[in-house]
Amino acid sequence: MSATGISDLDLRIASLGVHADDSYAIVSDVATPVHVSTTYHYDSDPTKLKSARDRDDATVKNEDGKTTFIYSRFGNPVVERVEAVLSAILNGYAVVYSSGLTAYTGALTYYNPKRLSLTDGYHGCHGVARIFTRLSGLEKVPLLDESVSAGDLVHVETPINPTGLSVDLAKAVEFAHTRGAKVLVDATFAPPPLQDPFEFGVDIVMHSATKYLGGHSDLLAGVLVTKDPQVRDALLADRGMLGAAPGNFESWLLLRSLRTFKMRVETQAKNAGKIVAWLDSALKTNQIPVLTKIYHSSLQTEAFVAKQMNTGLFSPTFAIEVASADIAKTLPSRLKLFHHATSLGGVESLIEWRAMSDPNVSESLLRLSIGVEDADDLIADLKAALLSFSATL
Ligand SMILES: *Cc1c(COP(=O)(O)O)cnc(C)c1O
Repeated sequence: MSATGISDLDLRIASLGVHADDSYAIVSDVATPVHVSTTYHYDSDPTKLKSARDRDDATVKNEDGKTTFIYSRFGNPVVERVEAVLSAILNGYAVVYSSGLTAYTGALTYYNPKRLSLTDGYHGCHGVARIFTRLSGLEKVPLLDESVSAGDLVHVETPINPTGLSVDLAKAVEFAHTRGAKVLVDATFAPPPLQDPFEFGVDIVMHSATKYLGGHSDLLAGVLVTKDPQVRDALLADRGMLGAAPGNFESWLLLRSLRTFKMRVETQAKNAGKIVAWLDSALKTNQIPVLTKIYHSSLQTEAFVAKQMNTGLFSPTFAIEVASADIAKTLPSRLKLFHHATSLGGVESLIEWRAMSDPNVSESLLRLSIGVEDADDLIADLKAALLSFSATL
C-alpha cells in the first residue's frame, strides 16, 4: 500500500498538494474543516471495542492506513490529512510535529545515537543536541568524522543555513552506511521539487514546515519522512507520548498552505535564480562597490550539485556579504519590499542581518529569503539600497 492512499493514481506534486488527502474526508465539505475536538466517540457497536490490553498502541494505523481517533494527542483528522499530503509530496511516510525542532527531537529520541556527526548549520539543532548531551551523554562530532560508527547518526543539512550552499549527500550516505550509521537530512532550504534526498539513500528527511511547506510566516510545524512504515509507527508512538503533534489550527493552516505549495516554491526559486544571476553579474562587473560575496547553490561548480539539485532551480534562500558590518546592519532599513526579519520560506521576501540571531556567522553577512513578488521589483529595490552606500566607501 502506498503512503498516500491514492496508489492507483500517478499524480505529480501540484496535484498531490490539492488531492492526496481526498480519501480522508469525513464530511462532504470541499474545503477541509478545522476539527477542534480533543476527544472522539468510541464505536457505538460494543463488539468493535477492544480493551487497551489487546491493542498495540493508540497511534496504530488500521488496515486502510487510517487511524481510529481516540484522543487528539495521538492523532486527529486534520493531522492525518496533512500527513497524507506530506507523505505524497515528500515521497515517504510523513510524521508531523509542532515545530522543526520537535521533529528533530523526535528523530534524536528514536535513533538515540551515541554520536551525532554534523556541520555548523541551523543553530537550533545544536541546541537540541546539547539537551541530549545533558540527558544521555550524546557526543557531537564534525561531519564525516573518523570516529563515526554503528548506531551513530550523521546529520546533513543541505542546502545549509545561512548560505544556501549544497552539501554532498551521496558522499555522506556512503561514509555513514559503510560504518553502520544512519543519515538524517535537514532539507528545509530546498523542499521538492528542488531536491529529493531519498534518491541518495538517506534514512530520514526532516523539514521545518514553518518555512516552505507552511509558506505564509503564520504557523510553526515540522515533519520527519521515512521510507520504512515501522519507523513511522515508532515515531508516531513516541510523538503521542511526547505530546509533540501540532495543534488542530496549525495543522489546518499547514494543510491549506500545501494546496499552493508547488507554485509558491517554484516562483520563489525562479525569482531567487534571477536575483542571484543579477547580483553575480553586478559583482563580476563591479557595478555595486559594497557587494563583496554571494553564496548560492547555483554558483557552486562541484559536480555533485547538479545531480542533487537536478531541476535547474535552487533554494530561494541565500546569503550575500557586504563591505562592512555597519553596511550589513543598515542595508535592511533602506529596502522597501524586504522585511528585516528572521526566518524564511514565506510568500513575502525577508532580509536578515544574520548576526542578530546566529552568533556563529560573519557580521557582514545578510541572509535573503525570496518571496513571490515580481523578481524585477525585488532587483530594483536591492539595487537602489545597495547603491545608496557607494558614496560611503
Ligand atoms: C527553521 C529551521 C529549523 C527549525 O524549525 P522550527 O520550525 O523553527 O522549529 C531547523 N532547520 C532549519 C534549516 C531551519 O531553517
